[in-house]
Amino acid sequence: SLSERLTAVAAHLPESAHFVDVGSDHAYLPCYVCLQDPSSRAIAGEINDGPYKSAEKQVKLQGLTDRIEVRKGDGLAVVEPNEVKQVVIAGMGGPLIASILEQGKDKLGQVEQLIVQPNIDARVLRKWFLANGFELQTEEILEEAGHIYEVLVAVRAGKELYDEDAIIRDKQLLFGPQLLQEKNAAFRAKWQEYKRKLERNVANMQRAQQVDEAKLASFKTELLWLEEELD
Ligand code: SAM
Repeated sequence: SLSERLTAVAAHLPESAHFVDVGSDHAYLPCYVCLQDPSSRAIAGEINDGPYKSAEKQVKLQGLTDRIEVRKGDGLAVVEPNEVKQVVIAGMGGPLIASILEQGKDKLGQVEQLIVQPNIDARVLRKWFLANGFELQTEEILEEAGHIYEVLVAVRAGKELYDEDAIIRDKQLLFGPQLLQEKNAAFRAKWQEYKRKLERNVANMQRAQQVDEAKLASFKTELLWLEEELD
């Protein structure tokens, strides 16, 4: 069965989806979606030969070759402009996902929904959405097998979730505006862990001979936010 993480990603796709899954690996996500919904279609994109072949094999095994096309290539280069309505990119770092979106901007004209699951640095994606006419519609955070994952969904015309105040906005970009409101168990676990790391970093920096003052200041700001938000 599909991981909780990918099930959470899949749950955001609408019925009759027509999407690309960039970096699909075994194509588990598009197979799951298309088996559940006979009116969904997908493209599974892969840059590497091994995962590309695994994806082809899986799609054949599930008898889905009529609705899932496996294509080899870098990021959104595997789709034509206006070909798909949704884009899924999961299981990579936020900066890599952001660079795939940035490089594939010309393919996003008619795309209605972006669903991303960054393993690290969701902030860079919240910023990318803001700068590129996408609005964060939904975000969630979940724990599976000791790992904590964030799933972000952006649409063209969502609701504005960010505060006008620049400082509050910076805080929302780091934590996620919705996640910050809910502060569920996974959220607390993630940021408690991060806070411990940050405390060690700050202590080490303060003992060091030479200190990057700007970095130290930004760490201290984050520590302050963490103290405000976690009890
Ligand atoms: N999306 C799946 C998931 O969430 O379980 C697989 C995640 S796996 C860690 C990342 C996959 O992305 C690998 O199979 C890798 O080959 C592929 N990949 C990395 N960079 C890519 C790129 N620029 N374009 C397409 N695929 C890429």
